[in-house]
Amino acid sequence: MTRGGETEATRYISSNMAALYVSAVRTLRTRSPIFVAPRRFQSAIASMKEILEGELEGIRQAGTWKTERVITSPQAASITVEGTEGNILNFCANNYLGLSSNPEVIAAGKKALDTHGAGLSSVRFICGTQDIHRELEQKIAKFHGREDAILYISCFDANAGMFEVLLGKDDAVISDELNHASIIDGIRLCKAQRFRYKHKDMRDLESILQQTQGCRMRLIVTDGVFSMDGNVTPLREICDLADKYNSMTFIDECHATGFLGATGRGTEEFLGVDGRCTIINSTLGKALGGAAGGYTTGPKELVTLLRQRSRPYLFSNTLPPPVVACASKVFDLLMEGEANLPRKVAENTARFREKMVAAGFTIAGDNHPISPVMLGDARLASEMSDALLQRGIYVIGFSYPVVPKGKARIRVQISAVHSFEEIDRTVDAFVDVGKQFGVIS
Ligand code: PLP
Repeated sequence: MTRGGETEATRYISSNMAALYVSAVRTLRTRSPIFVAPRRFQSAIASMKEILEGELEGIRQAGTWKTERVITSPQAASITVEGTEGNILNFCANNYLGLSSNPEVIAAGKKALDTHGAGLSSVRFICGTQDIHRELEQKIAKFHGREDAILYISCFDANAGMFEVLLGKDDAVISDELNHASIIDGIRLCKAQRFRYKHKDMRDLESILQQTQGCRMRLIVTDGVFSMDGNVTPLREICDLADKYNSMTFIDECHATGFLGATGRGTEEFLGVDGRCTIINSTLGKALGGAAGGYTTGPKELVTLLRQRSRPYLFSNTLPPPVVACASKVFDLLMEGEANLPRKVAENTARFREKMVAAGFTIAGDNHPISPVMLGDARLASEMSDALLQRGIYVIGFSYPVVPKGKARIRVQISAVHSFEEIDRTVDAFVDVGKQFGVIS
């Protein structure tokens, strides 16, 4: 086994000596304080920092910088916020039912921590499925009146992981132009032919349905409620068109599940079209306890295929047991119906909207707890929300590019846990600040 006097062993040693040398130099470069990295490495990092600083400066200059206020209490109607005094009334969380700090929900989470542990250290299909995961999926399917449901770590993942599994190149996906970013990303990942219809425009939708009649399957995709305006999709008309053109429908119910409609079943119930959508995706991270998690519910063949093929499900960790137990308790509370939370949030919403309109403000949206106070000017929205915070009301101003230019607003979100007194106090603060800024007289 020799070649030119070289044995396999010496050849092995000499080729590995070179590798060892390179690796030793690399270790020295990274670990030794006196080793000066070659210029080319330094400049790669330096130029990356320069490029990113330019991007950051661009965001600051555009006035679209997002500052995070730090809350030092649980999420609730009244919170404490770093840098402010006392309790602040919170009108900007998606805590529609006020269940994020509900004692029964918290107790269920704590119990699951003891009985099922902190986490599974696994994806679902390896060793990450517990009895409580299956129970929650069954409850979700029952709540929505669907055949089956599958949990994800977030609704973003549910949206990212569904379209690519369901639709191929012979299919078409027809999406409202203002759908949520996670839907847009999910659609980008799939191979179906993609179409966008003008926001809530049924004529445009119909003309696309006419153009795409040769496709194997078609899916109309819409948010149930659009979160910037608090407006509801025209679901009855969408379902009628779907029937007429033999299409399926998909609805993202993140801003509807648990509170919209008399028993919180969402947009279908709100508009009286129960059971007509083919597929529903929603989040556990808003009204349903507010921790985290998302799901798809619909035909059992779809759910079964998602378990086999959906990438965020297959390659990401299981939802932690305390989070599962909190959401499960929320579904129990909703299905028992005792607390009548959807009615409470609807009453609070009506009170806020009516009083604000009577005071002279313009409120967008369709009687949804998302109640955007329309102001137009971006600076006005930002300065008014700062002035409201000084009066103990936490609301956020939204401006371009989050909403169209000239349509800046303060987005107020109503919860079932707000008392009438808190709502009235907030309206009074809006009236004072609105007069101060010349928005109302
Ligand atoms: N879809 C809509 C309409 C949303 O508003 C959101 C969250 O903001 C999501 C999806 C994502 O939900 P999650 O927070 O569970 O990822």
